[in-house]
Amino acid sequence: MYEESPQRSCENSLQRLCENSPQRLCEKSPQRLCQKSLQPSCEKNSQRSCEKNPQRSYEKNHQRRRFIKSAMATALGAGAAGAGMALLPRAAAAVPVETSTKITGINTFVMRRAIFVKVTADNGMVGWGECAQNNKALMETFVHNGLKQQVIGRDPFDTEPLWDQMFYLNHDLGPGGALANAIAGIDIAIWDLKARMLGLPVYKLLGGKYRDRVLAYGSFAVDAGNKMTPKQAAAQAVDFVRDGFTVVKLRMQIREYRLNPEPDPTLVYVRAVDRAIGNDAEIFVDINNGYSAGRAVQVGRQLFEEFGIRYYEEPCSDQNHRETRQVVDELQDMLVIAGEKEYTRWQLTELITRANPDIINPDIVKAGGITEMKKIAAIAQAFTKPIVCHNTRPTLATAATLHFAASISNCGPFVEFPETKKKFAALLRVMDTNVRLEDGFLYLPEGPGLGIEVNEQRVRAASQSIK
Ligand SMILES: [Mg+2]
Repeated sequence: MYEESPQRSCENSLQRLCENSPQRLCEKSPQRLCQKSLQPSCEKNSQRSCEKNPQRSYEKNHQRRRFIKSAMATALGAGAAGAGMALLPRAAAAVPVETSTKITGINTFVMRRAIFVKVTADNGMVGWGECAQNNKALMETFVHNGLKQQVIGRDPFDTEPLWDQMFYLNHDLGPGGALANAIAGIDIAIWDLKARMLGLPVYKLLGGKYRDRVLAYGSFAVDAGNKMTPKQAAAQAVDFVRDGFTVVKLRMQIREYRLNPEPDPTLVYVRAVDRAIGNDAEIFVDINNGYSAGRAVQVGRQLFEEFGIRYYEEPCSDQNHRETRQVVDELQDMLVIAGEKEYTRWQLTELITRANPDIINPDIVKAGGITEMKKIAAIAQAFTKPIVCHNTRPTLATAATLHFAASISNCGPFVEFPETKKKFAALLRVMDTNVRLEDGFLYLPEGPGLGIEVNEQRVRAASQSIK
């Protein structure tokens, strides 16, 4: 076990100590005289110490060196888990964590209204996540041809290095948009998996919770292509109010390519909804990027003065932060929201520093998943910006959003939730248990992982493509 005899090792180490000590002690006195007088005394003492108990002296010295090496290895990040644990007293390591677990499979399930991602580990456990689904074929390909190879064989507890590798090794294919969207599905699934392995809800791994529930606002797309009439929009808003929502959002979906439309639909729709719901709920208006700064200020003032609208989302293009900045500066009575098209910490930093929106609204299934959203939240906090999570998907995305929203101090007053009775009715049927929505609030799931249960059999039956 020992590389050299205890006796010899002890003598060698004490000899070195003695050689150095007199040198240091003598620095302030006449060198030669001092060394002459101290050296014999030191040699005598060390000899005696080793003869008396060579084994104990050696082990003591050896243990000290081992401790220093372990601490250095931890500090350098080399074998951090093992070295770190060696420093802890036995009682502190009460819950052993199996860190040798490996991810062995990634599957995607493309359904009509969602793309689910399943991550499987070699212990048989699985985690579920969700990708943004603007282009299902692209997401499916991106996950399997771009990201899968960085994840298979890796430890699910390595969410930070895994995120970095998925992002930086595919940087040429991003960095925002599809790359961040695809990473999100895998990242959320891995968080679900590792929390399930520990038998804990995800928020516990995120540092705990600031809240048990978040007020939800009912969100629906009016669509300036006239898919919904003002009367239908009013009926939809009334339906949300009947279901207990106290805030509803009209997504005008004007877009840049219909910039500053004439006639302008916004006031027409808001007037119809306002008449229908009266004081039963607050109205929140999303322009979806369709105004120049001048038009946004003009319409914003009317919305505030005529209907008391306070929340005004993406009035201008996400491609032009100067325009948004102008609106923020001129509409002091309104809260301008932006950030659903920024997908990374760097894009959000650009948005905040250039456009200075009052509230940011990144989406967890677009902005790189839970791992990236925590970083975005920290940046937002440094700029004193609340986060109102963008969330248009009612199952896994909502659950992941709730765990994230519960774990940050700068969560805004509410979180987005879509209409589920028509558009998402089929998707809800693939869930054995889903998030709880009651009296307008979404409740933080308390079960292991994301805390909701997917029925894989039904997901398979509902899928157009499985890989
Ligand atoms: Mg929006």
